[in-house]
Amino acid sequence: MPGFELFGLEEKQEVADVMDNGFTFRYNFDHVRNDRWKTREMEALLCKKMSAKHAHLVSSGTAALQTAMAAAGIGAGDEVIVPPFTFVASIEAVFMAGAVPVFAEIDHTLCLSAASIEAVITPKTKAINLVHMCGSMAKMDEIISVCNKHNLLILEDACQAIGGSYRGQALGTIGDVGCYSFDSVKTITCGEGGAVITNNDAIYKHAHMFSDHGHDHVGSDRGAEDHPMMGLNFRISEMNSALGLAQLRKLDNIIDIQRKNKKIIKDAMAEIPEITFRDIPDPAGDSAGFLTFFMPSEARTVEINNKLAEHGVDGCFYWYINKWHYLKNWQHIKQLKSSAALPITLIEDKPDYTQVLVPQSDAIMSCTISMLIKLSWTEDEITQRIENIKRAFA
Ligand SMILES: *Cc1c(COP(=O)(O)O)cnc(C)c1O
Repeated sequence: MPGFELFGLEEKQEVADVMDNGFTFRYNFDHVRNDRWKTREMEALLCKKMSAKHAHLVSSGTAALQTAMAAAGIGAGDEVIVPPFTFVASIEAVFMAGAVPVFAEIDHTLCLSAASIEAVITPKTKAINLVHMCGSMAKMDEIISVCNKHNLLILEDACQAIGGSYRGQALGTIGDVGCYSFDSVKTITCGEGGAVITNNDAIYKHAHMFSDHGHDHVGSDRGAEDHPMMGLNFRISEMNSALGLAQLRKLDNIIDIQRKNKKIIKDAMAEIPEITFRDIPDPAGDSAGFLTFFMPSEARTVEINNKLAEHGVDGCFYWYINKWHYLKNWQHIKQLKSSAALPITLIEDKPDYTQVLVPQSDAIMSCTISMLIKLSWTEDEITQRIENIKRAFA
């Protein structure tokens, strides 16, 4: 990670092909596009690579989450169980759908735990937003069994975990609907972009309509199309899809490099007695975008985080104090800050987000450090990195 490290002629040629021969809009304009359909092509390749029935590209991972929820019928007043450790988009999208985020706890997978999901289910719970954080997966078997028992939809936010799998099934395709992000710093990038992926025909149909003003996309005359429902514009452009297409062709290679680089560093760090590693339910399916480890105490984690920086070990994240990825520091979310009244303000028994406690997650996250695994490292750089890490721990 990230895919932009491998930008080359392939990406340039795909984008130039849109400008030279194709057209910028993903639909219609058959007479000017010389049969260039980059978005369709990337969607088909995503389906093939992920063994999924449908993939629909949109303008961002956030748009994919919002589209997935609308398409799966998650809306006003529905409760959606969410993790306290994620990128804020996974929570924002729930609020913007008019639904109610309900926080549960993560376990040492750094993803929601089945027991904590079950503990916060109410008659209003409609779905879980299961985020596969930092490249690896939740304990899918246990979670699927709880969700089936309580008839909950599973939305998989695999924005950070594309290329990962659980027992051979691609992350994002195991639940009812999944989302990927192709923003500039993700495993593969469209510049900006995202995808909704599903095996469910009805969800797919709603997704392509919702993300394009409810257009049914039947026929070749946009003006004559029907609108079975309302939607918004979350369309991706052909330039973004062209870039993403070239990147998607590199995905297998990207995952191979990540796994190789991660293994070398993880093997070396395994010799440090005070470290334990993140729980990975299916190690063979780890996308290996991050190496995440736990320290024995919060004080030692703070110390090591500083020492890693002092010794030039870049790309380390102590999420517990970071303002983007952990509930503790999301003051704007806890206080429901927005420029206009949110739908949730009309819900009388809404949670008081300033009072939400996640002690189990705090205990884990206060001792967690993640290290970004880069694609561009040379063998020498990896050797040097390991030396620097050992010095930081000395
Ligand atoms: C990046 C990310 C998103 C949002 O994706 P964008 O394309 O940046 O909108 C959502 N969820 C998670 C877990 C992410 O890492």
